[in-house]
Amino acid sequence: MAVIAKQMTSGDESKYKTLVELADAHCHLYAFDGSATADAIAKGVATMISNGVDTKSNLKTLEISDGRHVFPALGIHPDYAENISDDEIEYNIRLIRENKNIVKSIGEIGLDFAHAHGVNSIEKQMALFETFIDLSNELNLPISVHSRNAMPQVLHILNEKGANAVHLHFFEGSADDAIEAARRGYMMSIPPLKSGSRISAIKAVPIGNLMAETDSPTANSTPSDVDKAVNIIADAKGIRYEDAARALTENTKRFFNISTAKFMRNAGP
Ligand SMILES: [Zn+2]
Repeated sequence: MAVIAKQMTSGDESKYKTLVELADAHCHLYAFDGSATADAIAKGVATMISNGVDTKSNLKTLEISDGRHVFPALGIHPDYAENISDDEIEYNIRLIRENKNIVKSIGEIGLDFAHAHGVNSIEKQMALFETFIDLSNELNLPISVHSRNAMPQVLHILNEKGANAVHLHFFEGSADDAIEAARRGYMMSIPPLKSGSRISAIKAVPIGNLMAETDSPTANSTPSDVDKAVNIIADAKGIRYEDAARALTENTKRFFNISTAKFMRNAGP
């Protein structure tokens, strides 16, 4: 049941507009006030996985998660790996452990070689990434992985560490990388930004391995823009928007273990 009905505020001729329930598999809601979330929910984006990137945003993410529409992912983004202290890493690990029953993923974690400053920075990123993969294996939680100019290393480390529930967010890999990721059972999420290589990747894998995301506020997006990502996937796959939306929403809720009933079911006229 993915079709929801929303009461319109004006216009007698169509009292209800039928919307398809959407899910944003990766966003950063700590960067917005509550109105962005409310606006997204009104547009049918019933599920949002909100990722922290450092201590402050992890705490804020926990505060704004409601377990109904907004679900937390906690982690440390690779951009912060170089300068974070061991104490602060420990603090964040404790935060994830203490909230393991509500946290839906360990993220945002990963490797960013575009922003790395030399060997020391890369080594610290890798060590931190491995620490969080170990934690996810121990707590049996998925991971939401950032990769920038680092896809071969990311795929290598995930394999070495035996990571099992993997979400490659803002997928940057080639069609071959996508095929390998799908072979391992990983999920890949697609942002609302078109690129030729991403379209090849979408075409190369089953829709069951895909999710839609915004990474908002990246590129001035909000979670409401996730329909544009759904559109890109639907176009690449040559299927109807509604069918893509239904599959992608189900994939996201299944992967992040979300079962909350979000809306009153109403087929509408
Ligand atoms: Zn992100």
